[in-house]
Amino acid sequence: MDRELTRELEFARTAARRSAAVCQQIQSELVGAAEKAGREPVTIADYASQTLIGKALLEQFPDDAVLSEERAVDYETVLSDHQRALVQRYISQAVGESVTHAQICAWLDAGKQQQSTRTWAIDPIDGTAGFLGHRHYCVAVGLMIDFVPAVGVLASPGFHSDEEDRPSAEHGALTYATQGGGAFLEPLAGGEPRALHVSATSDPSRAVILTSYESSHVDLGFIERLMETLGRGPDAPYFRLDSQDKHAMLASGQGDINFRVSNEASYREKVWDHAAGYVIVTEAGGQVSDAEGRPLDFSQGARLSSNQGILMTNGHLHAALLDAIQRSR
Ligand code: AMP
Ligand code: MG
Repeated sequence: MDRELTRELEFARTAARRSAAVCQQIQSELVGAAEKAGREPVTIADYASQTLIGKALLEQFPDDAVLSEERAVDYETVLSDHQRALVQRYISQAVGESVTHAQICAWLDAGKQQQSTRTWAIDPIDGTAGFLGHRHYCVAVGLMIDFVPAVGVLASPGFHSDEEDRPSAEHGALTYATQGGGAFLEPLAGGEPRALHVSATSDPSRAVILTSYESSHVDLGFIERLMETLGRGPDAPYFRLDSQDKHAMLASGQGDINFRVSNEASYREKVWDHAAGYVIVTEAGGQVSDAEGRPLDFSQGARLSSNQGILMTNGHLHAALLDAIQRSR
C-alpha cells in the first residue's frame, strides 16, 4: 500500500475544495433570502456537496467504503421536487453536463455498501447552522485505514486568522494532513501551504478554549463548571464556533483546547465530525481522547459508540484538562 497516501490526499483536497466552492455559490445565491428560505439552502448544499464527493470517489476509489451523512433514500422521499431540481441544477453546472436523478442517487450512496479496510468519512457540510449564519462551516473529507484516521482535509470557507472579523470571500482555508506526513494550511483559493503546529500554552487558566456555537450540541453548564474548576476568570479566552474549524484552529495554535460533551447524555459523536480533524490535530502535535481520556475508537461504524465527548488539546494541557473534567462532574 502507498503509505505516502499522495493520491488519496490529492483526491481529498480537490474534492473538498470543489464541494466548498459549490456550497459558497449556493450560500451566496440562496441564503440571502434567509428569512424566507429557512433551512432550504443548507439542504440543497448538503446534498450537492455529498453528490460531488461521491461521484469523484466512485471514479477514483470505487472499492473503498464510505460513511457519509446524507442518504439517497432521504433525497428521494424528504426533499421537495423544487429542492431536487435545484440540486440537479447545481451538480450539472459543477460537472459541466446535465446529470440525471438516478446518477445523483448513485453518487449520494457511493461506497455505503462496500466492505473494505479503507473507509472514507465524509461530512458534506459540517456546521450547517454556521453555513446559514455566515459563520464557520467546512466540508470534511477523511480516510480511515484499518479504523485509524490516516488522511484528513477540511475546506473551510469561513476560516479566518482574525477571529474578530466576519468571514468573507477573502478568507477561507484548506487544512490537511496525512498520518506521519504533517499538517498544513493553505488559502482556500490556492497559495503556499504552511506547516501547522499546536500552541505551547501550558496554563489552563489562560488557555483558549473552543467549543460548539450551537447550545443544543454542547453541555454549556458543564463547560461553566469546568471553567470554575480551572480557576478561570470571566475574561479567560473562550470561543464558540461551528464545525471542525475548531480542530483547524487548535492545529494552527489559534486555540489550545477543543472540548465538547453533548447535552444529551446518550449522544455519541459521529465519525465524520472528527475523523478528518483528528488527523490534522494529531499531526500538528495535538493530543486527542474522549472526555474520560480514552482513545477514540473509529471501528464502531458511523458513531464513536465506545466514547463519550471529545477532548483535543495542544498536548501540554491534556492531563490537567482530564483531571479538571473529572472534578467538574
Ligand atoms: P458543531 O458545529 O461543533 O456544533 O458540531 C456540528 C455537529 O454536531 C454536527 O455535524 C452534528 O453531527 C453534531 N450534533 C448534532 N446534534 C448533536 C448533539 N445533540 N450533541 C452533540 N453534537 C451534535
Ligand atoms: Mg457535522
